Amino acid sequence: MAAKLFIFSAPSGTGKTTLVKELLGRFETLVFSISHTTRKPRPGEVHGKDYFFTDKAQFMDMVASGQMLEWAQVHDNCYGTSKIFVQEQLAAGKSVLLDIDVQGGRQIMDSGLKPVSVFIMPPSLEVLEQRLRGRGTDAEDVILRRLENAETEMAQKAFYTHVVVNDVLADAVAELIAIVEQETSN
Ligand code: 5GP
Repeated sequence: MAAKLFIFSAPSGTGKTTLVKELLGRFETLVFSISHTTRKPRPGEVHGKDYFFTDKAQFMDMVASGQMLEWAQVHDNCYGTSKIFVQEQLAAGKSVLLDIDVQGGRQIMDSGLKPVSVFIMPPSLEVLEQRLRGRGTDAEDVILRRLENAETEMAQKAFYTHVVVNDVLADAVAELIAIVEQETSN
């Protein structure tokens, strides 16, 4: 299995976290890149598993000292990928999955790292709105901003190698498994 760098991007509420978990459970040689973020943890999120939760000063120190492979501000918070983690995993022959936004995705595509990029789409904006409201974790103004951002993000899907629509979960998982198998087979 060839070690590859996978970028997964999607508007928030598309079900990407669930899809990524399913996928990671299927491939021993695929590891998740735990991002750093200045966002506060949501209920159930664990430091060092879902994210490394950091304050803004610590985050900007990492940026300034060149420790981030990419970083971006998303919905008022900063998110970034640790360079050393990704380099070590690839060197050890593991593929690495980055769950990052379109700004970060574009930075990696432009970096010469030759990532395999996957954009996950909701079946429609209406379904996305239902899902965002259904999860009940975000305030109304946050939901509205996420919906606005979703349209801007979806306009970037043309830059991605693969586009997968998450309508029926099992179908989307099967499609993603096929992509990882195909991309790591050479
Ligand atoms: P959430 O706050 O819902 O966990 O994530 C919000 C957005 O930030 C998602 O689109 C997610 O993919 C993105 N994100 C998470 N980690 C990173 C990262 O390290 N870099 C970038 N550029 N985006 C990230």
